[in-house]
Parts: sequence; C-alpha cells; structure tokens
Amino acid sequence: MVSKRFTCSGCSLLCDDIIIRSDGLYIDETLGACLKGKERFDQVTAKNRIVSPQIKKNGKLVKVPLTEALDKAIDIIKNSKKPLLYGFSTVNCEAQLKGIELAKAINGFIDSNSVICQGKVLNSSKKTGITMITISEIINKADLLILWGANAAESIPRLLNKVLFSRGKFRMTGREIKTLIVIDPVKTASFGVMGVRDVALQIETGKDIDLIRILKEECCKANSIPDTGVAGIDKDDLKRLLLHLTGAENGVIFVGQGLLRPQSNEDVVKELLELVQLINVKQQKGRMSIMMLGGHYNMAGFDHVALSTYGKNHSLEFSNNQLVETSETIVSKIEKEDFDCSIIVGTDPISHFPSKLSKKLLKRPIILIDNKASATSYTADITLPSAITGIECGGLVYRIDHVPIELKKILNPPSGVYNDEEILNKLLEALIKV
Ligand code: SF4
Repeated sequence: MVSKRFTCSGCSLLCDDIIIRSDGLYIDETLGACLKGKERFDQVTAKNRIVSPQIKKNGKLVKVPLTEALDKAIDIIKNSKKPLLYGFSTVNCEAQLKGIELAKAINGFIDSNSVICQGKVLNSSKKTGITMITISEIINKADLLILWGANAAESIPRLLNKVLFSRGKFRMTGREIKTLIVIDPVKTASFGVMGVRDVALQIETGKDIDLIRILKEECCKANSIPDTGVAGIDKDDLKRLLLHLTGAENGVIFVGQGLLRPQSNEDVVKELLELVQLINVKQQKGRMSIMMLGGHYNMAGFDHVALSTYGKNHSLEFSNNQLVETSETIVSKIEKEDFDCSIIVGTDPISHFPSKLSKKLLKRPIILIDNKASATSYTADITLPSAITGIECGGLVYRIDHVPIELKKILNPPSGVYNDEEILNKLLEALIKV
C-alpha cells in the first residue's frame, strides 16, 4: 500500500490535496476529501456503479456483451438524421473533443450542461466583458466575498474553507478581514457560516434584477435608493452592500444557480456584469471580479474545447460535416422534438430536465455513456459503462476558475470497461467505416 496525493473530481473545485492509500487495485483510505469527494472515490465500488453494458429488450434492461451494445448503438446512430449529443461536463477534455468529432461525423447537434448553467454568463460576457479571478487570488488577496444565488457550502463543500477561512500570502490576518455577503431568497446552509461583520440579504424571489438596477443607478447617481428599500432589502442594508461593493480592495461575486435558473429574467446576468464593470471603472484602488459556480468538475472544459475548436462555447450543429449557424440549444431542440435519437454522456437529463422535456427526450432512442445508475440509465435503450475519470483514467480538466488541471489515474477500470474517450472513439471509428 502506498499513500499519494491526488486531485478529487467530485466537483469543479478539483481539490489537489487528497491523500489516497491504495495498492493499485482498491482504494484503502481517502484523507482530506469532503463527504461529496469521499462519495466520488467510493463510487468505484458503489452499489449504483454500472460496470456491465445493458440494452432494453421488451421494456426490460438486459445485461449484454459490449460488442452487442455497441452494435445496437451504431445501428441507431447510422439510421439517425438528427442525433443529439448532450452532457460532457463530467468527462475530460479529450472525451469532449472526441464528442465534438463524433457530432461532426454524424451531422449531429452537441451541447453541454454549461448551456443551462455558466454558459449563460459567458454568453452575456461577449457583450459586456468579464473580470475573472483565480482561487489562488481569492485566497491571497480577497477581502469581500459575495455569494449571489449560490449555496457554496453545499454545492462546492470546501470552497469556503479555502477562500474564506484562509489567511493568504499577503495578509497578516485571515477570516477577520474578509467580509461575506450572502444574497439569496432561500436561507441556505451558506447563511450558517456568517460572522458578526457579514451581511445576510434575504432578497425577494425573482427580484435580483431590481437590486442590480438600483445598485447600478446608485453608482452613477447618489441617493437613488428609495426609503422603502428594494427587493425586500431595506435602505440601510442596501447602503452597506454598496459600501462593500465600491470599497473592497479585492472583491468577488460568486454567481450561482439562483441567478441562472430558467425562470430568471434573461437580462439579470448581463446587468450584473455591467454593474461589475461600472464598479471597476469607478474603483480607485480595488477590483471586483466574477466567479461562476458551475458544479460539474469539467463544465468549464467543454466551453474551452468548443471555443478553441469551433469558436462557439456551446450548441454546435453540424450539417455535411461542417459547422452551421444556429440559435438552437439543447432545450429548444428537445422542445421542438427536432431530433431522432440522443447520445447522453455522463449526465442524467431525465432527472434534471423539467418533466415536459424529459418526456420528449424519452420518445426517441437514448444511448447513455455513464458509470452511475440514474433515471436516465433506467430508461435508456443502451447503456455503455464508462471508467470514472480522475480515478480510473486521467485527462485534462478545467477548474472552476478556468485553470487547466491534469487528472491522474489511480486504479485500472473494471475489466471490459473503457473510458469515455475510448467509447466515443469506438462509435466514431465504426461509423466512419460505414
Ligand atoms: S470540494 Fe469538491 S473537489 Fe474538493 S474534496 Fe469536496 S468534492 Fe472533491
């Protein structure tokens, strides 16, 4: 048994300080990971681990040899005119690139989970610009952390440990000089880490844009805050918020799902980015930045791979093996039922999508590549089991702050189980030959 340091792929923080004791066959001990990370390493032998290919026969899931499952998948794709490919935020960049190659070869439409999450921020930033920050910069320099619609304490469990309770290289003090502001309609677990100097703002649901607009106005014209407050937040708290926003030496706003959910006003992200730029123009000595809290460990990777290969961070559509212009997304494609089969990689849309969309997705054959039982694996026509990235295979991934990290392999995958890139390559090679 040897103990070595590895990176955890349990979430997008990709903590690189996890000690794993292993004999190369099993993981004996995991030290330093949070519960979510521990669960990730335990997934190797978990009850819901998928290690056998399965297909649906007469409505029942049946275990079959890999060749049979692959042949059936190839058959479906061969007869498809409008295949959808979706997921790709829990696989490495090599598999993401292979997925895009496959989409091109079969004239498909490919999207990642980012399109309904942090991709919205990246899209808005094309018009407004964006000031980003790395985890190291936050640890070493930040004095203001704002969780906006973001329950970091539960979604990225060690984030606050690292960035809020740390001292950093350039300061004599740590938590004492860091102010935490939580803006959320729901009193999440993140409210629980607040100290006396911190500010809890329980905003009215769906009123984020009203708050952003008044802050923008106040930045340009003082005393525009109405006496009654805005969005359920009173005047004094609004002034405190503004004082922190404009006075911080190095502030960061963590943008969470609360701001990105489908029912949010679509301008909310754009106006938030505009507010940050406005503050930065006015700031004499400091800087305000944005960090997107996408939870999947390589959601940012797909944005980079797609952008560097085809100049678009999501929603790539191919026709005659060429990229074509489209304003469609995975959501509009499913809504219009503009597809005849789907290839889902490392995600569970049947659980995650609204039931209206899941039902439409289920009307056409689903090919799933994944290693964990889910609502999608129970309903997919074909499931191809995959190795667990960051444990049974390595590869390049992008951390939450868009810093590239190389994951290392710890164990071999179970016999007959391939990694995502290899599976996608098997499909690609067979389809190119046809
Ligand atoms: S915070 Fe995320 S990356 Fe870090 S140990 Fe927990 S699950 Fe793993």
